[in-house]
Amino acid sequence: SGRWAKAAAIVKELEEKCGTPIGKLRQVADAMAVEMHAGLASEGGSKLKMIISFVDNLPTGDEKGLFYALDLGGTNFRVLRVQLGGKDNRVAKQEFEEVSIPPHLMVGTSDALFDFIAAALKKFVDTEGEDSHLSPGRQRELGFTFSFPVKQSSIAAGTLIKWTKGFSIEDAVGQDVVGELTKAMERVGLDMRVAALVNDTIGTLAGGRYDNPDVIAAVILGTGTNAAYVERAHAIPKWHGLLPKSGDMVINMEWGNFRSSHLPLTGIYDQAMDVESLNPGEQIFEKLISGMYLGEILRRVLCRMAEEAAFFGDTIPPKLKIPFILRTPDMSAMHHDTSSDLRVVGSKLKDILEIPNTSLKTRKLIVELCDIISVRGARLSAAGILGILKKLGRDTVREEEKQRSVIALDGGLYEHYTKFREAMESTLKELLGEASDTIVIEHSNDGSGVGAALLAASHSQYL
Ligand code: ADP
Ligand code: MG
Repeated sequence: SGRWAKAAAIVKELEEKCGTPIGKLRQVADAMAVEMHAGLASEGGSKLKMIISFVDNLPTGDEKGLFYALDLGGTNFRVLRVQLGGKDNRVAKQEFEEVSIPPHLMVGTSDALFDFIAAALKKFVDTEGEDSHLSPGRQRELGFTFSFPVKQSSIAAGTLIKWTKGFSIEDAVGQDVVGELTKAMERVGLDMRVAALVNDTIGTLAGGRYDNPDVIAAVILGTGTNAAYVERAHAIPKWHGLLPKSGDMVINMEWGNFRSSHLPLTGIYDQAMDVESLNPGEQIFEKLISGMYLGEILRRVLCRMAEEAAFFGDTIPPKLKIPFILRTPDMSAMHHDTSSDLRVVGSKLKDILEIPNTSLKTRKLIVELCDIISVRGARLSAAGILGILKKLGRDTVREEEKQRSVIALDGGLYEHYTKFREAMESTLKELLGEASDTIVIEHSNDGSGVGAALLAASHSQYL
C-alpha cells in the first residue's frame, strides 16, 4: 500500500544518508588526525581541545596504600576504595558503591550537586573497616574522575569549560571543580585531599596500563564518548612547561566535539536534534555515536514515519512526541530481539510508546532502523580510533618493531550493546587490514575508578 511505500522510502533515505563506506571512514580518520595536530599546536586551534592532562607517568604497579576514587560523569556516580599492595599484591582489595544523581541536581547549582556528592562520599568513608590500612596520621587521598571538559592547570586543579551529556549548572562553569568538591567535603566534615583530577578516559588509560603495559589509548563509549592517549611531549607545540622526565604526556582529546564535513549527518534527524539540545552546535561526533543520543535519533525517525507515512495508523502516538523517551538500552533490546515474532520489539513499543498490536512487518522495519543508526555510530567510532593510530604512526605494520598497540575500551554502550561493539571491532579490522594483528581492543571493566585511585597514589603528598 501507499503507507508501506512511504515508510520504505524513509528507511531507504536514512540508509543512504547514514552510509559509512570505507572510503568515507578513511576521510573521517584523516580529518581526526589533522584536527589532533591542530589542537596540539595551539590553544583553540581546533574543535578538538586536546587537553593536557598533567599525567606524564602512568601506573607502574609499584603503587601502595589505601586510596579513594570518585567517578562523576553520567547518570550515576561511583565511590571506590582501593587497597593497593605494590608489585606483589596489586589491587589487594576493592570496594565500591554506586549512587544515582537526582535529575534536578543535574540542572541546579554547583553547591547542591557537590554537597550531594560529598555527603555520599562521607557515608562511604564511614564504612571503612578494620582491615583498611590508612597509615596513622595520614590524610585520606582521592582520585577524582570528572568526565566533562576541564581546562587542567595542574594534576589536581582544573576549571570546567562546559557541561555535556544533559548536565547544565551555570554557576559551576569556569570554577575549579577540585575547589568545589573540596569546599563541599569541608561543609560535610570530611577530611580528604584530592590528589588527582582526571576524566574517565584518563582513568581508563591508567587502569588499562596497570593491567597491560601495551595500552596506549583509551576510549569511552557510554552516555557520551571521548578518548585519551599517550603523546610524546615534544610533539605538543602548545606545551610550554618543562619536558617531563618520561618524555610522555597523556592527552584528553575531548573527541566528542569533533566535527568534519565528512561526517554523515542527516538534516532532519541529527541537525534537528542538535538544534533542540542543551548544547547546540557542540559535541557533534558524540551526538552521532553515544548512548545518550542513539535512542533519541531512532525516536525521531519513528516520529517522521508516523507523521508522513501513517506508520502507526491514522493518529500519531502521543508518547512518540516526547524527546528522549526511547532510551538506547531499549533500542539495544529491540535490536537484539531473536524471537520469531519479535516480541521484545512489540512489548517495548507497547510499554514505552503505548503502541499496541504492531505487525511483524512493522517490527522488522524497526529492527532495521536500529541497525542503521547503531552501525553508523559504531563505524564512526572505529574511524576515530584509526585517527589516533594514524597520529601515532601505529596504523601500519613496521617490520623493525613488532609493536603491539592496545586500546582500552569502556562504557555502558560498548559493554552492553553487542551489535554496536561487534560492528565497531569488525570495522576497525577492516580499516587496518594486515596491521590489525598488532592492534588489540581490550575491555577495561571499570578500570577508570581504579585508574584514578592509582593516579592519586602516584601523586600522593606523602611520596
Ligand atoms: P556513564 O557514561 O554515564 O558514565 P556508563 O559507562 O555506565 O556510564 O554508560 C551508561 C550508558 O550506556 C547509558 O547512558 C546508555 O546509553 C548505555 N547503555 C547502558 N546499558 C545499555 C544497553 N543494554 N544497551 C545499550 N546501551 C546501554
Ligand atoms: Mg562513566
